[in-house]
Formats: sequence, structure tokens, C-alpha cells
Amino acid sequence: MRMYDIIKKKRDGKTLSKQEIDFFIEGYTKGEIPDYQASALLMAIFYKGMSVEETTNLTLAIRNSGDVLDFSAIDGIRVDKHSTGGVGDKTSLIVAPIVASLGVKVAKMSGRGLGHTGGTIDKLESIPLFKTDLDSKEFIDIVNDIGIAIVGQSASLAPADKMLYALRDVTATVDSMPLIASSIMGKKLAADDDCIVLDVKTGSGSFMKSVEESKALASLMVDIGKNAGKKMLALITDMDIPLGYAIGNSLEVIEAVQTLKGNGPKDLTEVCVALASNMLYLANKGTMQECKDMVENAIASGKAYETLLKMVKAQNGKVEFLQNTDLFEKAKYCEQVKAETDGYIDRVDTEGYGISALILGAGRNTKEDKIDYSAGIVLSKKTGDKVAKGEVIATLYTNDKSKLKNAKEKFLSSTYFAATKPTIRPLILDRVE
Ligand code: URA
Repeated sequence: MRMYDIIKKKRDGKTLSKQEIDFFIEGYTKGEIPDYQASALLMAIFYKGMSVEETTNLTLAIRNSGDVLDFSAIDGIRVDKHSTGGVGDKTSLIVAPIVASLGVKVAKMSGRGLGHTGGTIDKLESIPLFKTDLDSKEFIDIVNDIGIAIVGQSASLAPADKMLYALRDVTATVDSMPLIASSIMGKKLAADDDCIVLDVKTGSGSFMKSVEESKALASLMVDIGKNAGKKMLALITDMDIPLGYAIGNSLEVIEAVQTLKGNGPKDLTEVCVALASNMLYLANKGTMQECKDMVENAIASGKAYETLLKMVKAQNGKVEFLQNTDLFEKAKYCEQVKAETDGYIDRVDTEGYGISALILGAGRNTKEDKIDYSAGIVLSKKTGDKVAKGEVIATLYTNDKSKLKNAKEKFLSSTYFAATKPTIRPLILDRVE
């Protein structure tokens, strides 16, 4: 078998066999297939797509590229949630402690930023000394002890995804349904959770821009998970507007803490309550209404916030940074962005906001780039808000002054004003069971 023929076959829109998909994943994982051939195949898949069968085969090949974990030493039901990626999406930092505080185990593996979207591991690493690479015994012990641990995908778990994820991030091949579905489900099937809630984002800040595409992606992933024996559920949630006000790693950790203390933005709180309630529901903790009440109580009582502190402490992070978020290092430079006209913010290109944050240093342009944890954006106004000409709509933060100009231009060109108030769609757009 030759990689050249596999690339050509997909380039010409034909269906790849299981053997060809396995050949590609095994060869790429072993370093026998170079990045340039893998990139070419990814681009062919991006353009020509994959059938459900091909996507399932790709998912299984990714899962089988490394260890398939055994969490049977964790007592009780294990539930996970995975987002398809968004801007300002810090929901994992909030929902995981909520659910764990209510007695359902969260043994979570999360990813890094991808394209214009942020990643939970980068956010957690903005907490000084936080360890995202626990060995499996430490990980299981912490989950058994306090109900939750969040780690990065270890080198031995779905290594093919780790390599492909980094390659897709820099070759404009992220927003492809089969590549997203196989990436997420390849990892999820390698971990040993009983229940998985998928947060499939839709809109200008997500990889799937339309509700129809997002629903198709959700159904595909729900089916792949169910066929592998997992309890699955997906919510389709809005990403036409960034979630909350903060975009960028430590800025988002600070907003997550505020949300767990009950003082978070309304939109972020609503999505987190919905996700956490569905996670509990899937873990058989009660009716949807009972689960929602439990979640609201876990926030109001401070139980969920306390669980986040316990997790950060158990993973060696400096917990005092969460107790006093003023301790987080501030970026050296900041610049205000002002409204160009009187009126309303009519709509925003949320991906453009994500790119602006990336330019500031909150994400990576190449696989080797280092993140600037304090870089990012704090919005003062969001879609639907009234603004006066010259009023501050956002503040940009970075440690590299030379980045401010481009980031500001990107931010402004992604913001659209109008004379009348726009209609805003609901945050939770659908549920796929
Ligand atoms: N999250 C993932 O884990 N993989 C993707 O491809 C997109 C989002």
C-alpha cells in the first residue's frame, strides 16, 4: 500500500477502505508517513468528506493508535463532557466541578487550543504549577478521593489524534465533520467513561457554522459513541456570540471562578447549568428538573467552587490564585477598543474575535508556539448591547506590544453595528439523544 495512492483516491472523491485508513493512522503514528503526506490527505478529506463508515473506521483507528484506558478502579459512574470548540468556552472548568460536587465522577481528559478556539488544558496551565500530566495511578486516586481530575491527553492515549490535532491546527483542516467527529470520539472511546455529553457548538465562532451541520455532527458522534456502548447525549449550543466576556487563558479561569461563585455572566451560567444538568441526567441522578435544581444548589451553596479548589490543590496548582484572582499576572500592555458609531452591536464574527485573541498571544500559530497566558480580550459590550460612539466595547491584553495593532484591526473588522436592536437566538438550540 502506498500513501500516494490513498491521497489520490481521496482527492478523487472515492471511499477509503478500513485497511487504507488503518495504514495511514498506523504509519503516521509511527513516524513512517511524513507531515506533508498526512497534510495532503487531511486536505483531501476536508474537501471530499467521508462516509459514516469511513468516519467510524477513522475513529476506531485513532482509538487503537494507543492505550485504551481502564477506569474500573474508579468507584461509581463516570461522566464526561466534550465541546467541539468555541471562543470564550470555559464551560469544562465550571461544569466538571459542579457535577463532581454532586457525587458523579469526572475523570476528564481535555485538549489544547485548536485554530481560533481555546483549550481547557491551556487554561488550566495558566494556574501556576498546575499539573496536567498525572500518571494513571495519581489520576485515579485523585478522582476517587475528590471526584474529579482533569489532565491532558497522555502521550499514550490516542497518539494519532494528538499528532493530527496539532497538524490540523496549522494546516487549515480543522473544520471538517469527519475529522472533528473522529478526533473527539477517538479520544473519548480510548477513555473509559460510562456517559458522555457533547457540547456541539454552532455559529460564527465554531467549526460548524450552521445548525444543520452541527446537528449532523452531533448525530454522527452520538451514533459512534452508542455503537461503542457509551450513554450519549448532545446539546447544540450557540457560538454566534462568545461565551461570557473573557477570551484568553487566565482571563477565562478568572471568569470561571466568578461563575462557580454564582457571579458569572448570564449566558455562560445558562449553558453550564444545561450541560451539568444533562450530565447528571445521563448518570441517572434524577429527572431533568431535579438535576437542574441540584446544579443550581451546588453553585449557590459554594459546593462546586470548593470542588474546583480541591482539584487545583490535588493537581499541585497554586490554589491561592483562585481564592484571590488578582494574583494572576497581568499582561504588560492593554488597549481599549471603542464603538465606531452610535447604535447597537448587531452581530460579531466570533471566529474573528478568537483570531484577535490568538494574535495577542492566547493561541498558537505554529505547533511550537508558546502561549501568553495573560493575553486575550475582555469584552465590555456584546451582541444586542446599545453603544454610544467612542464607548469602550472591549479591552485587549498582551505582553507583546507589536501585536496590538493587528489584533485591534481584526477585532473591529469582526464587529458589526446597526441602528436597531438585533434579535438574539436562544443559547441552547437543540438536544440530540
Ligand atoms: N475538539 C477535538 O477534540 N477535536 C476536534 O477536531 C475539534 C474539537
